[in-house]
Amino acid sequence: MRTISLIVPCYNEEESIMLFYDAVTKVFTGINHAGERYQPQYQFVNDGSSDKTLEILKQLQEQHPETVHYISFSRNFGKESALAAGLDAATGDLVAVMDVDLQDLPELLPEMIRLIEEEDYDCVGTIQKARRGQSRIRAFLSSRFYKVIDTMSQVKIEPNARDYRLMTRQMVDSITALPEYNRFSKGIFAWVGYKTKYLTYESQPRAAGTTHWSLSMLFNYAIDGIIDFSDAPLRLATWVGGFSFFLSICGLIFVVLRALIIGGSVAGWPSLVSIILMLGGLQLFCLGILGEYIGKIYLETKQRPKYIVKEKK
Ligand code: UDP
Ligand code: MG
Repeated sequence: MRTISLIVPCYNEEESIMLFYDAVTKVFTGINHAGERYQPQYQFVNDGSSDKTLEILKQLQEQHPETVHYISFSRNFGKESALAAGLDAATGDLVAVMDVDLQDLPELLPEMIRLIEEEDYDCVGTIQKARRGQSRIRAFLSSRFYKVIDTMSQVKIEPNARDYRLMTRQMVDSITALPEYNRFSKGIFAWVGYKTKYLTYESQPRAAGTTHWSLSMLFNYAIDGIIDFSDAPLRLATWVGGFSFFLSICGLIFVVLRALIIGGSVAGWPSLVSIILMLGGLQLFCLGILGEYIGKIYLETKQRPKYIVKEKK
């Protein structure tokens, strides 16, 4: 009998939890019916929900004390922290990360298990085809994001990959060994390496409730992803700064020579003003990039825990 830990972050998901539990249990009944022997271990993480999520998790845990466990945070720490807590707590031989809203199809699990057990993969990830109900602008921005992160960072992050994946114990141990406070899971999964296979599937609507992501949150997430896994923006700032310095030296030589040869003139102040404005903007931009990194360093040096557990079972 092999155990599979299912890490399930939940933030205000009172309507989804039972639907999720029933759907996944059904899938495992099917797997074991086919002769395999896999025991699911549900590791729910209540990420500071303000609705009945925790009560429902407690009820479920009481009904199935052997297979259902939960961790409850002292406040909302975000999905990345919830995943970190789940991975820290997971004890299974294989470990899956799944959203509770059934957008991560449980029906893929048998194939994912087969790929790891029989074809020797360490990890099976998932990619969703075009998101139904996703606006054009979001789709465009997310494709840009993957382009940028691909050119800038050393790790290869699969475009449109979801967090939904199944991993071996060894890979999970490698992930939990990473000490960083700023966690960008998509990058971390890619960074630790291991032989990974991606399954593509049609994206699903939410089982209940609404998404927790606004456009501005997605922007911040994208910036985190780039900054956490790349120092290319700093390099870019150096290059752009160097290039504009070179241009201004050329301009200076030109102005001095012209003044010496033709004589002084006050004409040309519009160009002067625009150059000053442009350089000012450039400097602020570069300062912003520096600030992003310093902010990250600041958070890392505080060495605060990634999450605070209020109760667990
Ligand atoms: N989630 C969480 N903490 C948060 C936001 C979301 O644990 O602060 C969980 C949420 O309950 C769900 C998963 O993360 O299980 C994905 O969230 P959501 O469905 O809102 O994201 P989307 O699928 O739209 O990317
Ligand atoms: Mg979702």
